[in-house]
Amino acid sequence: MQFWSRYDRARYVVEPTYWEIVGPHRQQVKGIAAEFNDHLFDSDAAQALNRWSDEVKAAVEEYLQAHYDFGKTMRLVTSQDTVMAGSIAAVPTCLFRVTIDGEVDACGRPAVSEDGYCQKHASMVEDSPMDAPNRIAKASA
Ligand SMILES: [Zn+2]
Repeated sequence: MQFWSRYDRARYVVEPTYWEIVGPHRQQVKGIAAEFNDHLFDSDAAQALNRWSDEVKAAVEEYLQAHYDFGKTMRLVTSQDTVMAGSIAAVPTCLFRVTIDGEVDACGRPAVSEDGYCQKHASMVEDSPMDAPNRIAKASA
């Protein structure tokens, strides 16, 4: 069963992780959580990954469908989502890059201009393409 969330890293705790005290020892009892990755949670994949029993998997699915968020920010994946996911992935992202302390930061917003910049950076580039290099030259002179 596949679920979709508005939040790319949504996490729903069905049973919290807790510490059990057995005589002199403390042992961690791993809880049960539905962890969304890139807006998606697949209960079959999670079952395989976490070695859940069928009962646990069913409990997670029931928990999500009974949750307050279900039908609002979270719902079952429909076949239309698959189509949408494909078209979202096909949208190119903005080419704007800025280097801070040797690390390159990409803008990542969807590109809207013909030369591949987002709305914000397309207008910046169009305003005065020659201004920025001149300013740098003056500052260093
Ligand atoms: Zn941008």
